[in-house]
Amino acid sequence: MRALCWHGKNDVRVDTVPDPKILNPRDAIVKITATAICGSDLHIYNGFIPTMERGDILGHEFMGEIVELGSEVKNLKIGDRVVVPFTIACGHCSYCEDTLFSLCDNSNPNASMQEAVYGAPVAGLYGYSHLFGGYAGGQAQYARVPYADIGPIKIESDLSNEQVLFLSDILPTAWMGVENAHVKPGGTLAIWGCGPVSQLAIKCAFLQGVGRVIALDHIPERLELARQSGAEVIDYTKVDNVTATLKEMTGGRGPDGCMDGVGLEAHGTSADAVMDKTKQVMRLASDRIHVLREMVMACRKGGSLSVVGVYGGLIDAFPMGAVFAKGLNITGGQTHVQRYLNPLLERIQKGELDPSFIITHRLPLEQAPEGYATFKEKRDKCIKVVLTP
Ligand SMILES: [Zn+2]
Ligand SMILES: [Zn+2]
Repeated sequence: MRALCWHGKNDVRVDTVPDPKILNPRDAIVKITATAICGSDLHIYNGFIPTMERGDILGHEFMGEIVELGSEVKNLKIGDRVVVPFTIACGHCSYCEDTLFSLCDNSNPNASMQEAVYGAPVAGLYGYSHLFGGYAGGQAQYARVPYADIGPIKIESDLSNEQVLFLSDILPTAWMGVENAHVKPGGTLAIWGCGPVSQLAIKCAFLQGVGRVIALDHIPERLELARQSGAEVIDYTKVDNVTATLKEMTGGRGPDGCMDGVGLEAHGTSADAVMDKTKQVMRLASDRIHVLREMVMACRKGGSLSVVGVYGGLIDAFPMGAVFAKGLNITGGQTHVQRYLNPLLERIQKGELDPSFIITHRLPLEQAPEGYATFKEKRDKCIKVVLTP
């Protein structure tokens, strides 16, 4: 089959590789009909995610048709149209039973690697390094789906692929990202970064009763799209001080909740952002946390910080004193996708949400390398790339 493989920093290629096979009785093989490039794929593309190996197949946002089933998968049949959650979960461990699917105890075959780095293993992810299980991803013609009786959601209506594809990751991620900011009805949520997840988070926030959303970015088309969804926007390159601006907009208190939709490659023009970048280049710190610092300073006392953007390792010069003094709550984590699939599909079906509005680029899989470069450089007003194998 053809698949998008990682060959090194800024080097991905569509290669011919062996077809996936059923390895366990709970596996399925999916023939992929649509797949997307995620902002978190760019962290791999940019060389910030360790334990990648040449030839690894990327992609964790995909859907398709069941073409082969293991003997123990009883809830699906050949020909079913499914969206696959990017978090691989067994469904039966204590974490899965608590619906904390991304913390599954059983789905990461490289558990010992993670135990050394994070203290405990978390769920395996498609196409996201050997630290996260070394699973082949879905930017390919076919993929093996483990625990297929738990993960994939069947799409039986005539919704288009583009309307349901983002159930695989960014729509549940946006929904959970808003939940974790714990903003009470009518309250104010500030969102750093206006990439695809944040664009969906603005919609999710209003559906969850948030009164005001303030979105920050510096790319005009992203800010414009956020504005169209009802957010107030800040171009952070045009204000002297983001914290002061946010306070001014919120009666001097600061937003009730803050969401980091950026992660470890935060850009910024302030002294701390420049220092982070230097340290990362010199390998003195792995993650750039300009956004986290800004959230800590801007958030109102007793508020919540929701970390949606990916972080990988160690951070430096984190204002822990402020977190402590202001009684802030911080929640991160990969999304518990399986928990949100049915309720979000229902909202799409009812017409409350149509996540396809963020798609700006549609390319055949063969042009995926071009898709990565365009998305990385935000060329041609690129916000989200969908690939068709
Ligand atoms: Zn993703
Ligand atoms: Zn589990």
